[in-house]
Amino acid sequence: DLCFLHPRAAHCDRLYGGLLVDGFNEDSCHSRYQSATYRRNPSRRPSPYLVSKLRSHEALQRRCGPGTAAYNNALEQLRSGKSAASPECAYVVSISYRGIGNRILAAASAFLYAVLTGRVLLIDPGNEMDDLFCEPFPNTTWLLPPGFPLAGYTNFSVDTAESYGNMVRNKVIIRSDDGVAAAADVPTPAFAYVHLNYDATVEDNSFFCGGDQRLLRRIQWLVMRTDSYIVPGLFLVLEFQEELDMLFPERDAVFHHLGRYLFHPNNHVWGLVTRYYDTYLASARQRIGVQVRVFGGMPESPELLEQITTCTHKEGLLPQVLAAGEPILPASRAKSKAVLVTSLKSWYYEKLKSMYWEHATATGEVVSVHQPSHEEYQRSGARSHDHKAWAEIYLLSLTDVLVTSGRSTFGYVAQGLAGVRPWVLYKPANSSAVPDPPCSRDVSMEPCFHKPPGHDCRLKQWADPSKDVPYIQHCDDAIWGLKLV
Ligand code: GDP
Repeated sequence: DLCFLHPRAAHCDRLYGGLLVDGFNEDSCHSRYQSATYRRNPSRRPSPYLVSKLRSHEALQRRCGPGTAAYNNALEQLRSGKSAASPECAYVVSISYRGIGNRILAAASAFLYAVLTGRVLLIDPGNEMDDLFCEPFPNTTWLLPPGFPLAGYTNFSVDTAESYGNMVRNKVIIRSDDGVAAAADVPTPAFAYVHLNYDATVEDNSFFCGGDQRLLRRIQWLVMRTDSYIVPGLFLVLEFQEELDMLFPERDAVFHHLGRYLFHPNNHVWGLVTRYYDTYLASARQRIGVQVRVFGGMPESPELLEQITTCTHKEGLLPQVLAAGEPILPASRAKSKAVLVTSLKSWYYEKLKSMYWEHATATGEVVSVHQPSHEEYQRSGARSHDHKAWAEIYLLSLTDVLVTSGRSTFGYVAQGLAGVRPWVLYKPANSSAVPDPPCSRDVSMEPCFHKPPGHDCRLKQWADPSKDVPYIQHCDDAIWGLKLV
C-alpha cells in the first residue's frame, strides 16, 4: 500500500478530508473508516468551514440530544403546547417514509436545514431507519426515542391543522409585507409540522421564504415530511445564502458531502457490500454500475434493454460485440470490465450477461456481468429487502462509471456518494420507442428536487429561479425539478 507516499489518494483518506471525525469505536461501525479504501474516484474536498461547522453541530447534538436535561425540558415544553420564550435547544424531526432513496434524501435535507438553523436533527426510526445506518454523531443518537409526545406524527399530512401551511391559511400565523408574525392573540405554538412533500401547497412552500424562516425560528419543535431533496430550495432562501456559500463553495457537491458524512452502512449491510465487492468487482480494471429502475408489474422491455446497450456502446462505456464469423481479437484479462446491474428484475442482467458470453467483444475486453439480488417487487420497510436495497445503492456508489434511470432517488443517492456524474437513461415519451439519444451525461452529481416551490417570496408571483440563480438549473430527467450545478 502506497498511502504513506500518497496520503490524499481517494482510498487513503479514511476521514474524507476531515468530513468524518476520528475516535468512534471501529467495531461498532466498520464502514465508517473502511469505506474510503473501497473508493477509486477522487473525492471532493469539504471546505474547512464545513468541517468546523460539522464539529460544532456534533457538539450541539450531544448537548441537546436524547438523554440530556435540555432534551427533557424540550419534551416538557412540547407537552405544554407553548414555545418557551428563549428555548435552550430547538429540534427538527424528519419523518422516514417511502423507498430508501427517498428516506435518505429526506434525512440529508433535514440535516442541512438543522445545521443552517442550529437545530438538533432527530430521525424517525420507522421504516427500518434504525437498522440501516451507524450513528453519525459521536456519543449521542440521531434516532428519535420512543415515547415522543406527538404520538401520531408519522401520519401528519397536508391536512394536519398544525402544518405551517395550514397555520398560515387559517391566520394562526400572519404573513405581511415586512415578514411574518404569530397572530397577536395566539401564543407561538410549541411545534409546527412542515409539509414539504410532493403535494405541498403554496402556503406549505412559503417555508422557502426568509420572512417565514424568521418566524419558524421561534418554534422549538418542527416535524418535517419530504419525499425529495429540498436542498436546492434552501439555496433559494436569501437568509441562508451567505452561510451556504461558505459551507459549499462547490455547489455541485452538497449531497456528496452530506451523504458521505451521514450515511454509513451498519455492519450487517457493510458485510453485504464488501463480500460482494471483493468477490465480483474488485479485480476488474474498471467497474460500470447500471441501475435499471423498473416496477413490479411492468413487463420486460426489449426497448429498455436496447436503450441500455445503445447508451453504453455509444458512450464507449462497454464494448460492442462481434457477429458470428467476424475476426476475433485475443481476449485480454488486463482490460477487464465488471458490470454491476441493480434492478428489481433479473431479465436485463440475464440478457447482458448472455450477450457477453455468446459473443466476443470487438475490443478484446473481458466483460463480466453481476447482479446481487432481484426482489421482483418493492417492499420498502421490510428488513432484509431494505438491507439489500441499501447495499446495492452503496455498491453502485463504488463503481467507476454510472448509468442510472432518470428520476430515481435510488440512483441519485448512488451518484452522490460515488461523486460521479451519471449517464442518465431518460424515460421515452413514447414508451414503445428507444429514445435518441438513449442517454446523456447529467450536468451535475446532485439529486434533483422534484417538486420545488414555484413562487417568488418577494414578487409574490410565479417565478423560475433557474432564470436568476446561475447555480440552479432545471433537471434534465424531470424538467419541472431543480438541481444545483
Ligand atoms: P425511487 O423510487 O426510484 O426514487 O427509489 P427509492 O429507493 O426511494 O424506492 C425504490 C425502492 O424499490 C427501493 O428502496 C427498493 O426497496 C426497491 N428497489 C428499486 N430498485 C431496486 C434495485 O435495483 N435493487 C433493490 N434491491 N431494490 C430496489
